[in-house]
Order: sequence, then structure tokens, then C-alpha cells
Amino acid sequence: MAKEELECSFCGRKKAETNLLIAGLDAHICDRCIEQAHGIVVEEALHTTNTDLNKDVMLKKPKAIKEFLDDYVIGQEFTKKVMSVAVYNHYKRLLQPKSDDDIEIQKSNIIIVGQTGTGKTLIAKTIARMLNVPLAIVDATVLTEAGYVGEDVESILTRLLQAADYNLEKAQNGIVFIDEIDKIARKSDNPSITRDVSGEGVQQALLKLLEGTTVNVPPKGGRKHPDQKFIEVNTENILFIAGGAFDGIERHISKRLNMQAVGFSASKKEDVFNKDHILKYIIPKDLKDFGLIPEIIGRLPVLTYMNPLDKETLRAILTEPKNAIIKQYKKLFEMDGVEFIITTEALDFIVEQAIEYKLGARGLRSLCEAVLTDAMYELPSDEKTKTLKVTKDYAEEKLQKTTIKKLKAVS
Ligand code: ADP
Repeated sequence: MAKEELECSFCGRKKAETNLLIAGLDAHICDRCIEQAHGIVVEEALHTTNTDLNKDVMLKKPKAIKEFLDDYVIGQEFTKKVMSVAVYNHYKRLLQPKSDDDIEIQKSNIIIVGQTGTGKTLIAKTIARMLNVPLAIVDATVLTEAGYVGEDVESILTRLLQAADYNLEKAQNGIVFIDEIDKIARKSDNPSITRDVSGEGVQQALLKLLEGTTVNVPPKGGRKHPDQKFIEVNTENILFIAGGAFDGIERHISKRLNMQAVGFSASKKEDVFNKDHILKYIIPKDLKDFGLIPEIIGRLPVLTYMNPLDKETLRAILTEPKNAIIKQYKKLFEMDGVEFIITTEALDFIVEQAIEYKLGARGLRSLCEAVLTDAMYELPSDEKTKTLKVTKDYAEEKLQKTTIKKLKAVS
């Protein structure tokens, strides 16, 4: 074929009519056809079949799920068990072929009540990692009812799509963690007095997502506008995990318990309902009294709680999880040829500081940073020192240099 007669083997355009004509073995393709083909590739990726999911979702039995969680999350035995079962049932429901009987397994969306820093996000992250499914973490406080300043609830699904690299099938089987769900509680007990836009409106908007619906999602986020292309996302198989501190919910629980306790020995009820552990008596009605609408509570049927972190738990968090903070520092120093040793007394001291200044588990990291920054600065250029031993005195001296108040602000 003469050179001037080159043409696109797909659309037949002559070379002169194209911006670019690429030669293959026996054919040519023009820039327009490349773009069109790319569009088809993207479209196909959005419709990967369910068989791929079976491969990707590594479904373990509840006991194995719990064991996996044990490697990363210290304590919180009840929640780990409840969540292992909920997650197992959820994915069993997805992988089950459609059957003829009328038994439809309902979704097991989860709500976790517990103070901040007790590991709610950590559990959600660990489960997503174990299952190899995308996870979107969203803050309920930024969500607003459509038309108000803030993000529409659809933005949750935009995040999930992004976490799934825009693989629609993967996103539709992913996990959404909605943090601070308690902040969208209805402020007033009487819904008829005023319309509570920030709280109840958002709860209503969330409701549809939780129960399973098809939503037009702007793939790049932002407000909906008419000429934007949407991706249709079905939320039926997305697992929602909501978390919140629900400050003050203890009052509702103890009020209810005390009412129930009337008739029993009144003097005994004080020690039965220890304030720190009162969360374990939580029931859906307490969430309603706090200001969640009954429909939302109904869509989050698995209710569980996190224990406050006591001294032993904080101590274990420092050294026991697979990627424990102390293990990480050991590795960092090892890379510089330095053996890092920290005494039991020093570890206990760090934990005591975290408790005294109410820094929680998040504070452990900042405390360790404060203790070790000098060493991490000096030792890499110090050829002679091959061992770093952190004693209680050493830790105390280093911490005195940093103001703990500053740490408190960080965590
Ligand atoms: P929450 O979501 O409840 O506010 P996070 O899950 O974000 O708390 O916890 C903050 C950090 O504290 C985690 O990244 C983790 O390092 C540590 N942490 C908290 N609770 C635990 C726990 N039970 N086991 C291990 N680490 C924990």
C-alpha cells in the first residue's frame, strides 16, 4: 500500500483526516478510535462479573475473622465476636445463589457505640483489609440534606468508588464506615416543634442508602449538576458500619436500668451498674432516646459497644498488635543498625501519662514520638552507638522537655 493511502483500520479515516495514526502489525488505529476504545475498556471495568467478587472477597468463618481481628485489635472481645458474625452473614448473603424459597436474608449493618479512640475505625479498617474489599470512611458531621451547605449523602458513595478505583462491582460490595453518627441525632425530643435540618434531615437521607437503593453518584464528587455524568451505584450489598461516642447516653441507659431495678434491692444497683461498663447494657431504645430516628436504628440491626481503654489494654496496645507502635520503632532503629530496647517501667510510665492526660490510645503514639525524637535525630549520624535503651528516667526526662499540653492538642 502506498504511503499516502494509509488509513485507520477501524473507522477508515485517511491519515490526513486524523491527528494521529498508530501502526500495528497489520493494521492502523487513529486517535479517535483509541479514545472510543478506551471508553469501552472503562465501561467494561465498571461491569465486572460477580465471579470476580468470589475470588476477591476472602470469606473466612466467624472464628477465623475474630482471630484475624485479635492480631490487630486489643480487647473489645464482645464487639469482635459480634462483628465477626455480622460480617460473615453479610458476605454469605452476597455469595449465596438466588434460591426459590422466600427467605430473604436481610442486611446486617452495624452500629458501634464507644468513646473516641477505642478502636471503632480500626475494627472497620481491619475487616476491610481482611476481606480485601474497598472501605470508605466518612464523617457524618459534614453531611447535609440535599440543597444545604455541606456534602450530600451521595458523596459517601463517591468516596467508596474512589476507594475501589472506580470498579463499580467492587464498590457495590464494599464497606462504608460512618463516623460520628451521634452528631446527627435529633437535638430535640419533640420532632414537631422545629424542623431539625442538620440532624433528622440527614438521617432521612441516609436511610435510603442503608436500606439498599440505586443512587446516581457523581464520580468525581461535588454537587450534582445537569450535564455531569453519573454512575449508578446500588447500595443493596454495601455493608454500613456506623460509629459514635454518644456522649451522655449512659444517662439514658442508667435511667432505664434504674427503672427496671425498682422492685429489686435498691442498694445493690450501684455496684451492678458500674458507670464505666454501663454501655454493655445498651439496647436500641437508648439510641432512640438519644435522638436517632427509629427507621435508622432499624437499618442498623447489629448494635454493639466498645469498652473504655483501661491501663492493661493501653499497655498491650503499645506492644502486642501485629503492627504495634513499639514494634514499628524497633524496625525503624534496626534500619540504622541500632538495637532499640525499652524497659517495662518505661512502657508503664508512658501508659500512665496517657491516662493522666486523658490522651487515650491515640496519645500513645505522640508520647512515644516525644520520648524518641532526640534519639531518632541523633543516632542515624552516630556511628558508635549500637544500642538505645529507654528507661523510665530517660522517658521522663524527654517528656519533661515537651509540654504534655501540646500533645493533648495534637491527639
Ligand atoms: P475510634 O474510631 O474509636 O475513635 P480509632 O480506631 O481511630 O478510634 O483508634 C485510634 C488509634 O488508637 C488506632 O489507630 C489504634 O492505633 C489505637 N487503638 C485504639 N483502640 C485500640 C485497640 N482496641 N487495639 C489496638 N489499637 C487500638
